[in-house]
Formats: sequence, C-alpha cells, structure tokens
Amino acid sequence: MKLRPGRERSLERRHPWVFSGAIASVEGDAAPGDVVQVQSADGAFLAWAAFSPASQIRCRALSFAEDAFPDDGWLREQLARSIDRRSGLVASGVTNALRLVHAESDGLPGLIVDRYADWLVVQLLSMGAERWRPGIAAALAHITGCGQVFERSDAEVRALEGLPSRTGVLKGEAPHGPVEVTEHGLRLLVDIASGQKTGFYLDQRDNRVRIREIAPGGDVLNCFCYTGGFALAALAGGARSVLSVDSSGTALALARKNARLNDLAGAEWLEADVFATLRALRDAGRTFDLIVLDPPKFAPTARQAQAAARGYKDINLNAMKLLRSGGVLATFSCSGGISAELFQKIVAGAAADAGISATIDDRFAAAADHPVLLEFPEGEYLKGLLLRKR
Ligand code: SAH
Repeated sequence: MKLRPGRERSLERRHPWVFSGAIASVEGDAAPGDVVQVQSADGAFLAWAAFSPASQIRCRALSFAEDAFPDDGWLREQLARSIDRRSGLVASGVTNALRLVHAESDGLPGLIVDRYADWLVVQLLSMGAERWRPGIAAALAHITGCGQVFERSDAEVRALEGLPSRTGVLKGEAPHGPVEVTEHGLRLLVDIASGQKTGFYLDQRDNRVRIREIAPGGDVLNCFCYTGGFALAALAGGARSVLSVDSSGTALALARKNARLNDLAGAEWLEADVFATLRALRDAGRTFDLIVLDPPKFAPTARQAQAAARGYKDINLNAMKLLRSGGVLATFSCSGGISAELFQKIVAGAAADAGISATIDDRFAAAADHPVLLEFPEGEYLKGLLLRKR
C-alpha cells in the first residue's frame, strides 16, 4: 500500500492511524484484517499495518520495523510486554481489577483486555484485532494464568469497522452472576457479561481515592453513578450522606448490592435523568458539599464537540448552583472529542453563567493502567477538574 506524497509524516512520528484520504494505491487483494506493508510515495517502508477497508481509519500500524512482521509470535510478545508493564504501576494489594491492554496506547490497536479477579474480559474493536480472536484467549491465559476469558466485543465502534456485535465465553466457564473484585479495601461486584464497557470504570480508580479524601462529613451528590464507585468511595471516606443518580435501573441494583456488601449506610439511589434532577434539586432548595459529575461520552469524536459542549455546560452550570460555599465539584469528561483545554473553557463558561468563582484544586486523568502515548494524544480521553467554590 502506497501513501500520497507528504502523507508519510504521521507514521514516521509513530502515530498509528492511516486515514483513507492518505492512501494513493492498494496493491494486490488485501482482505479485511490482513497485515499490509505501508510505504511512502517513493516506496520507502513505513510500517506493517492491519487493513480495515470499511473504516475511515483504513490502517492501524502494528510494527514500525521492517524485520518485525506482526505474526502470532509478535502478538504473544506484545501481550506479554503490555502485561509486564503493569507490574509496579498500581501498588500491590490495591486492587485485583486492572486494565492489562489499552489498545493503541499499548501498541495493540483495537484490543482491550481487563482483568477482574480470576476473569479476563477482552474487547476486539478493529478489523485487525478481530484477526487475533482465535489465539488470544490461550495466549492471555498462558501469560496471566487466568483460565476464564470473556468477550465483550459489543462496543459501538465495531460498526465503523464493519464488524457485528459479539459477546460470550472465549475460554473457561460462563460467569455465574457478577464477579467480585476489591479496590482500596472496598468490595465491588462487576457485571462482566452485560455491564457497561467491560463491566467497570477502572480508569477512575485514582480519582475515587481523591473523592474519598475530600468526602468526610459532607453531603454528597453523585451524578451518573453507574454501580456506585464514587458513592462507595465517599461513604468509606466518611461522607454524611450520598445521593446518587443514574438512568440505569440495572446499574443501580448492583450499586445497592455494593453498598450492602461493604456495610455502608447513608446511600440514597435515584433512578432518573441527571439533567432534570439537577433542576429539580434546585427547585427543592437542596445544596451539597461535594458534587461528582461523571457523564457518559457526549462526544466520541471532535465532530460531535459542539452538541457535547452544550451538554457539559448545562450539567456543570446546574451543579454549581447546588454547591454550598466552599463546596467542591469534581467534574469529568471522557469524550475523546473534547480536549482538556476545551473542557476547562466549557466549565469556566458554566461558572460565569452560574455567577460563581472557583479555584482549580486538582486535575484528573485516567489511572496509569490506561497509559497515554506521547505520539498518540487521542489516547488521552479522560479529563477532570476539582473545583472549589469561593
Ligand atoms: N461514575 C461511574 C461511571 C459513569 S458512566 C463510575 O465511576 O463507575 C455514565 C453513567 O451515566 C452510566 O451509568 C449511564 O447509565 C448514566 N447515564 C447516561 N445518561 C444519563 C442521564 N441522562 N441521566 C442519568 N444517568 C445517565
């Protein structure tokens, strides 16, 4: 495969994506998922890449060395390296739930592997990753010693690759109900078979610790609570009360179980729309010491950024109106299409409209098992601000 003149620069800088518009010609009859050699316009080797004819991201680079062809042995080595990099990233004893492979950011485009206690959960999100399916469970079991591997290839991005949604057992038994993991001394049930993403938001691990630290004695509002990660952290930290809101009844059912499992009292769970709830709480004259806003991805790509910005502004503005003086807002965005800089601007606009002044006490990112490659800034999707109302 040859690129158009001048389009070799991003691969030369080790950015893994080749967009359809950069390609001048495809020689031979490469099938979806095949490894192709990508060359510059003048025929110089650039990368071995997985071909995805249905996607705008037409190729994802696997190897930047001509003598390192990405075969089965290469895959096993990359997996082992990615998993090996985790040792020491999270202090021992903190948790048995960890992201082991973070796709492009671990040199394995389209592949996510999360560990939950004795289970591995795999997501194959690109045509190239789909090709790894036959051997992946055995390879992962060999490296980790985990014999139970479950597939959650049901993310929407599969459609962009022309791939159907698929979930089920890859190796071992089917899970009997939720899997229990521990994180910072808390017991958490994770629904790996049908929960969101691979079952849990591992990326917020360190940020849950921060919430725990600032929660003591406070009345907390936890918006978009899912299975209660931030709620449990706040209660464990000594919050007086935590009101959690989510539109998913199934998520809330698991959240309630999680609170019981840890003997934590003081939690209230509300199945409702956050946008409407924030207004209703204001009308009812409610106020809080700490508010967490952790909404779903409003803008998966930059194209949806404008509509997303309105959504972020709305919830931040209405949350700020519920903050007591000196109160704290932990506000997040996991939208790849919204940069940290743009997010801060949106939040600043919300504060201006709410008529409040606030300090940025901290900045949030994903935990270290979700690495960011310098050459692939797209991997930096989670950002957040800890704001204190003055
Ligand atoms: N804070 C959670 C993760 C949140 S994910 C954690 O740390 O585990 C986003 C959550 O928002 C999902 O649980 C989803 O069900 C919920 N959600 C999406 N849109 C919503 C809405 N408009 N109102 C309330 N909840 C919503």
